[in-house]
Amino acid sequence: MKIALVGVGKIARDQHIPAIAGHEGLTLAATASRNASVEGVEAHTDLASLLEARPDIGVISLCTPPQYRYADARLALEAGRHVMLEKPPGATLSEVHDLIDLARKSGVTLFATWHSRHAAAVSAARDWLADKTIRSLEVTWHEDVRYWHPGQEWIWEAGGLGVFDPGINALSILTAIYPRALHLSNATLTFPENRDTPIAARLSFADPGGAEVSADFDWRKEGDPAWDIRISTDAGEAVLSEGGAKLHVDGNRLETPEADALGGEYPGLYARLHDLVSRGESDVDLSPMVHVADAFTLGRRLTTDPFQF
Ligand code: NAP
Repeated sequence: MKIALVGVGKIARDQHIPAIAGHEGLTLAATASRNASVEGVEAHTDLASLLEARPDIGVISLCTPPQYRYADARLALEAGRHVMLEKPPGATLSEVHDLIDLARKSGVTLFATWHSRHAAAVSAARDWLADKTIRSLEVTWHEDVRYWHPGQEWIWEAGGLGVFDPGINALSILTAIYPRALHLSNATLTFPENRDTPIAARLSFADPGGAEVSADFDWRKEGDPAWDIRISTDAGEAVLSEGGAKLHVDGNRLETPEADALGGEYPGLYARLHDLVSRGESDVDLSPMVHVADAFTLGRRLTTDPFQF
């Protein structure tokens, strides 16, 4: 299966290129990026010229920031190519619905990825929780924006999501492991006075099952990140830590495949892509993005100190 990558930046280099190289059924056949290329791989500066030059490339994987992804996704789907989207799948929900319709009409695969769902302990956490009575669940997603997103202006521009860029990873795990649908009941978003996206957010969710569910996202934590979900149940306390990589129940580690923070996630995504394309199916779950959209709709706005890199 020949793949082209669009947007050769941080995540393309850190994760997509090694994950494609590590899958025996996939080949990186070309790239489209205005300012970057991959040594030894055919390079174009825009997707339109790539699509015209390479009708043999069946899959386009889009690694650009969310605000600039829709036009390329449309172009690729209209050209009859399968499309894989980085998270979040778009800048708005309605544009992703448009892509879903187009993929269906074109008879091709659309795969909206949530890499954190492929972290080593996420499915074990889902299975463990399935028959428990949940009393409370608390998400803590704290990291240093200067370390994890150095110089990324797009993340501070409207549509870039700010702290919800990592926060949506937590929500992708929450929506994968929680046994019921939740909905947002309260939110507070803290914006630097010179930026269009928040640096911190606190969320509360209503659970029809009665548990207290909350999330705290903050980009102002220096040093090691905290990417944890703490769940109190009738059968003990579970902690899903390190972004979904490790699961402890009452302090004891549950055996899951070894993987460091992002280690197994992108190989898992590309295995899933290969599977979806082979079977002629799509996979677009918008539930993490719905919670983020709700937070922008419902959230109270607080203002804090200006942010400079
Ligand atoms: P990035 O390095 O800032 O951007 C990726 C590439 O997109 C850039 O190198 C650039 O390539 C292109 N690009 C940037 N701004 C653009 C614009 N205004 N118009 C068109 N193209 C533009 O971002 P990233 O960290 O790789 O993140 C990309 C996506 O992956 C985001 O949705 C992010 O949430 C997701 N992601 C990132 C990480 C991470 O650790 N960084 C982890 C998981 C998921 P050219 O200038 O060469 O065109």
